[in-house]
Amino acid sequence: YLENLKAIFFINICIIGIALANAFLIFDILYKSENLLISSLSNISVTLLCLISLFILKKHGLKVAGNLFSISIVLFLLIFINIIPKDIPVLYKFIQGFYSIFAFLLVGFLFATRTIITISSVLTIATTTRVYLIATKNQPEYANLFTTAFINHAFVIIIITVIIYYANKFTQSAIEKANEEIKLSGLKNEELLANEELIRATNEELTATTDALVETNSELILTIKKAEENDNLKTEFLNNMSHEVRTPMNGILGFSQLLDIPNLKDKTRKQYINIIEQSSMQLLSTIDNIIEISKLGTKQVLVEQNTVNINSLLKELYAIFKSQTDKKNLLFTLNTELNDEESNILIDKFKLYKILSNLLGNALKFTNKGFIEFGYQLKGSINKNELSKNEIHFFVKDSGIGIHKEQHASIFNKFAQAEPTLSRQYGGLGLGLSIAKENTDLLNGTITLESEKGKGSIFKICIPYKRI
Ligand code: ADP
Repeated sequence: YLENLKAIFFINICIIGIALANAFLIFDILYKSENLLISSLSNISVTLLCLISLFILKKHGLKVAGNLFSISIVLFLLIFINIIPKDIPVLYKFIQGFYSIFAFLLVGFLFATRTIITISSVLTIATTTRVYLIATKNQPEYANLFTTAFINHAFVIIIITVIIYYANKFTQSAIEKANEEIKLSGLKNEELLANEELIRATNEELTATTDALVETNSELILTIKKAEENDNLKTEFLNNMSHEVRTPMNGILGFSQLLDIPNLKDKTRKQYINIIEQSSMQLLSTIDNIIEISKLGTKQVLVEQNTVNINSLLKELYAIFKSQTDKKNLLFTLNTELNDEESNILIDKFKLYKILSNLLGNALKFTNKGFIEFGYQLKGSINKNELSKNEIHFFVKDSGIGIHKEQHASIFNKFAQAEPTLSRQYGGLGLGLSIAKENTDLLNGTITLESEKGKGSIFKICIPYKRI
């Protein structure tokens, strides 16, 4: 900015200088000077000098241009004074030469180095002295006038030189100061940039921390929700437990007392014994389930590998459940895909039995009309060499009350029941599916559910097929 300002100033002064030189030319013409040629030449030279200086200014900067300008002007001054013809009115030339050259010198001075300023000033005074001497020698009649003019001009030159010298000094120190400030502000800028970078990094860190906190928060909310759910499940479980234990116990106690009635008919006694038996079985199954789920929870359950004929196992289950499905008037079917020889597989028999009996028990419990169908399908080939690729898909399908889609994700959790009110009506502790799932996991299988509220359910268990 400063450099531009100086350049503009420099150019303006050049233009003023040229205008001044032209004014002297007009002055010459008006006063019919005989040396128009010299005046014109001096003007042309000054104009050329301005142009060259501008060119140098553009190419090499202000300082070089200022120095060159000052030196050329002084040289020009020396030549100009030396070629003054002896017979002209020296006063005009003296005034013209001195002022036009000094005007240019001023310009150069402002931007030249201080050594050049000193040299130029000395040369100017020397030249003025020389002009003074020539003038007094040629026109002694004006000697007094020249002396006054000389003293005046010498004095003015000295004063102006001193002023310019210090103005230059101030300009230089201003430039230095400005440069320093620019440097400082550059440093500050760098500092600011570094700070900005730091702030940005901190900001990013904060955002990451906030994100992590939000995540932790949502995790905590989930955990709280889960804890609340677990708490509810626990309460529900205890309620169910008291129901599941008390009902059969009451049955057992009540009917054992009734057995004591004298003269009881054989048929009635048999009925009572039957009820006591059933209640005991129910109680036993509840206790079994509780023991099983706690065993599974401690991860102490071992997986055995038995040779199982799945066709026979399913037929056994069919026989057990058939009487109960008949009682409910349900169509009960079994689907086996493999022949008896192919259906010999290596599996933990007890676990498979447990899984299927739990699923069948549920199907029976939650189906009031329609059908229950179960069985298996083979996915892949029965070829022994491709064992790992083959899976056996067991299924239990019913036309019962179904399970709402929202419940699917949590239905295999411990103590989970689709609808507590319904479950109270149907009985159960919410352990059957969780036992089935954990056992399926132990068999390296997966259990899935397809169901819709009111549209029946299909439970599928996919287990690796290890044919014997
Ligand atoms: P529960 O002892 O309560 O039957 P389960 O773990 O066996 O416990 O089943 C959990 C819940 O899943 C049941 O309470 C019931 O709501 C639902 N459910 C299980 N099987 C079926 C089915 N075949 N049809 C409809 N609902 C079922």
